Amino acid sequence: MKPDHPHSLPGLSGDDSLLLLRTTAELSFNSIVITDSLYRIVYANPAFCNMTGYTLEELHGQNPRILQGPLTESAVIDKLRRGLKEREFFAGSTINYRKNGRPYLVEWTITPVNDNTGEPRFYVSVQKDITQLHAEQSTGNLFAKAIDAAYDGIFITNAEGIIEFANQGFEIITGYTPTEVIGKKPSILKSGKHDTTFYKGLWRHLNEGLPFRAMVTNRHKGGHEIHCQQTITPVKSSDGKITHFVSIIKDMTDRVFEELKLREQASHDSMTGLLNRRAGEIELEVSLIQAQEADSPFCVLMTDIDNFKAVNDSYGHASGDEIIKAVAESLMEQTRKTDKCVRWGGEEFIVLLPFCDLDKATEIAEKIRIDIAESLFDDVGQVTLSLGVTESSLDDTPAEILERVDTLLYQAKNDGKNRVASSRQAVD
Ligand code: GH3
Ligand code: MG
Ligand code: MG
Repeated sequence: MKPDHPHSLPGLSGDDSLLLLRTTAELSFNSIVITDSLYRIVYANPAFCNMTGYTLEELHGQNPRILQGPLTESAVIDKLRRGLKEREFFAGSTINYRKNGRPYLVEWTITPVNDNTGEPRFYVSVQKDITQLHAEQSTGNLFAKAIDAAYDGIFITNAEGIIEFANQGFEIITGYTPTEVIGKKPSILKSGKHDTTFYKGLWRHLNEGLPFRAMVTNRHKGGHEIHCQQTITPVKSSDGKITHFVSIIKDMTDRVFEELKLREQASHDSMTGLLNRRAGEIELEVSLIQAQEADSPFCVLMTDIDNFKAVNDSYGHASGDEIIKAVAESLMEQTRKTDKCVRWGGEEFIVLLPFCDLDKATEIAEKIRIDIAESLFDDVGQVTLSLGVTESSLDDTPAEILERVDTLLYQAKNDGKNRVASSRQAVD
């Protein structure tokens, strides 16, 4: 059968095609909204009405702008407007507001649909509320971080007793790194100091779904005995089956506390509290791999204080140090908690910005520049910064990014200092 309309689905009439496509849109879990060329809503599917809290009647003829509010990122909207002007496909994410005022995080694409003359006639936008996903990811990260930073040793086994997770505290107490023990059984810690009655008691408790707590003598990787207070708690699924055991081992000395303090000192700069260069290099490598695996935007910012030798020469090293500390504070204040600020060298810093595109990173760099340029320092007065910003690509190496951002920083210096140079590409 020849389709009776140029846009019919193969083998189907125009009416059937229309019906099927319309039903598909109505059933879609993703939200779909279509506007005309003047951005007036002509169609919204039930998922869109559900996400926004508006009825189709309320949305009809409205500009999708009604969904924006105080937390909607203006940079994203500007980019969207530019995209629409250029008639390009656009993808982005920002905060929008439901009819009742509740904000939600939305990820969306917009595709222009052109008429015969190539002019946009409609815009089709597919959207997804990612608030929950985002919250789960950040609390998931938070829990993992909290557990890793705990002063006690924590390890989790599955129901068969195979270790699936171990934290830093576990490593400090037992000498085994997580990679050495994941996949093994906790029996590697056995010291031989406990008899069968002890283990029988332990398993009786656990099999009844009860936690077990005792002073346990374990054996350190290095061979010596370690005396720990150990708690094992069975974790059950909703149908009552034991799926995991969570073990917490407390070292009876302050060793874990001391060691965590040493680790903190090894990775942080004592003057500013920022990450030191070595830790920064490791973080850069990790962040870059994560960004490339998830194909998410990742930026690196580098800054160096302008004419700092003159500050030291005229006002002394102590005044110079105060300025270095102030720059470190500004970096922390102007960036998100998940960004990593690093004291890269004497008066040189880098900031790692995951999930941040070049526009946003440039905006942040500009804020840092203004914050310092507008501060008045005791004796010294005004001080300025030059900054370079670049975004990673899928085939970047840490060395390539550093070289690029360094070149950009020096471009900013050459162009007269107190400015930001940002680019995805290397500059000549
Ligand atoms: P430019 O604008 O080109 O960056 O000029 P500059 O004078 O800042 O030159 P450069 O960045 O090469 O100078 C770095 C100076 O920073 C040299 C050093 O005396 C000073 N410096 C480095 N580390 C510290 C520090 O920890 N405390 C203080 N007070 N000064 C430092
Ligand atoms: Mg320098
Ligand atoms: Mg300098």
